[in-house]
Amino acid sequence: MRVLLRSLPIIVLGLIIFVPNAFAANSVTRLDGASRYEVAVNVSKQGWSSASTVVVANGKAYADVLSATPLAYKNNAPILLTESSNLTTPTKNRISQLKPSKVIVIGGTISVSNNVVNQIKSLGVSTVERIGGASRYEVAENIAKKLPGTSKAVIANGKAYADSMAIGAYAARNGIPILLTTSSSIPTPTKDAMKSKGTTSTIVVGGEISVSKSVYSQLPSPTRIGGSSRFEVAQNIAKKYYSSAKAAVISNGYTYADALAGSVLAAKQNRPMLFTDAGSLPTPTRKAIGNSDMSTFTVLGGTISVKSNVVSQLKNPIVGKKIFIDAGHGGHDSGAVGNGLYEKNVNLDVAKLVNTKLSNGGALPIMSRSSDVYLTLSERVSKAQSNNADLFVSIHANSAAPSASGTETYYYTTYESANSKRLATEIQNRLYAALNTKNRGVKIGNFHVIRESKMPSSLVELAFMTNLSDATKLKSSTYKEKGAKAIYDGIVAYY
Ligand SMILES: [Zn+2]
Repeated sequence: MRVLLRSLPIIVLGLIIFVPNAFAANSVTRLDGASRYEVAVNVSKQGWSSASTVVVANGKAYADVLSATPLAYKNNAPILLTESSNLTTPTKNRISQLKPSKVIVIGGTISVSNNVVNQIKSLGVSTVERIGGASRYEVAENIAKKLPGTSKAVIANGKAYADSMAIGAYAARNGIPILLTTSSSIPTPTKDAMKSKGTTSTIVVGGEISVSKSVYSQLPSPTRIGGSSRFEVAQNIAKKYYSSAKAAVISNGYTYADALAGSVLAAKQNRPMLFTDAGSLPTPTRKAIGNSDMSTFTVLGGTISVKSNVVSQLKNPIVGKKIFIDAGHGGHDSGAVGNGLYEKNVNLDVAKLVNTKLSNGGALPIMSRSSDVYLTLSERVSKAQSNNADLFVSIHANSAAPSASGTETYYYTTYESANSKRLATEIQNRLYAALNTKNRGVKIGNFHVIRESKMPSSLVELAFMTNLSDATKLKSSTYKEKGAKAIYDGIVAYY
């Protein structure tokens, strides 16, 4: 008992130290499952506690599911998935729980067999309606017929699933049918659908490889949302329609199985769908997140389709932030010289390490220089400005008489004074401790790069190159790594 009591203050101290970080982290919910069928069930649990209508589609007929999103949304129905020949058990159990009076089956009897329809009926569902078609194009046409009249249509490549998935939530939310095309010609069912619905304007999703110029020119008043990759298409959709969204649904951009049912959830939550690589967030997705300061994410699928590193990046408050890392001096300007060291090289070594950490952490770091080249001070400031950097950190090393030693961090008062001071403080407190140098504190310094930069900015003086003990550390890759980690941690703490 006495032992327990004695250890109590340590526990309390630990809480005090770690609570602020916990508050700063972004919120990430992963909707997982042992199979695509279970993931769809878990998506439905996230969005629906009851449902009078449920949409059921083949878990492998991606095109059918994607054009069904607006229909599912209109009926406030979750999308559940099945195998063709047999109603999958998790889906069966979920239908039994939800007790819908109606199930809409998407696709022909090859996608969803009559046996599955009978199995659904035997669960006590009074109405099972099938929306079929001889092809994905015809299925999409028949789904469009079930949507209320609108003069708009979305046109996407019937085989570029990512594009339909990215636009699904927006189309659903606005009652716009998703019609499908090939890259080179408009299939007859799609032409028929536009004619019968009186389509007068179209939103074309994807680049010219997905929907060619020729198809584009045949569509009624088309607007293209393109991009050089699926990630960029999704980014551009988010930019156009969700510029103030603080939340997004995240799925793997290449393996759709886990994400099929998620598009109607995204519609219900009014969030854009963004894509990721399995192991790391791609640049366009980081931009979409950073540009609207998103902090809440729903991740679709298990750790194979979206690895835990992606979740760590999403949770990290620096995700999508554009952080300018300025390695001081360079080229003919060596900076300070001491104990066999050139300042420009020390600065660049540490800056590169910080850059890598920021990039791995989910941020969008920008380096003033990544090699031994000279830039003027105003060129550094303009580069940060033209990249719309959110933060500016300049890295230097000090020089003076051999007796002077220690670490100090500067800010200035022209722009963002309070935030700049806070940034400097978060970095300084970690940096001198990591380098085990004298703490010379946070100071106001009239240096060009922090005086002229409009975003919050700090200038770090790692240690004194002219002091033997400090210089020994600046030569050591272990200490450079420790210093870079401290700067990185300071930036994370700032956010
Ligand atoms: Zn310097």
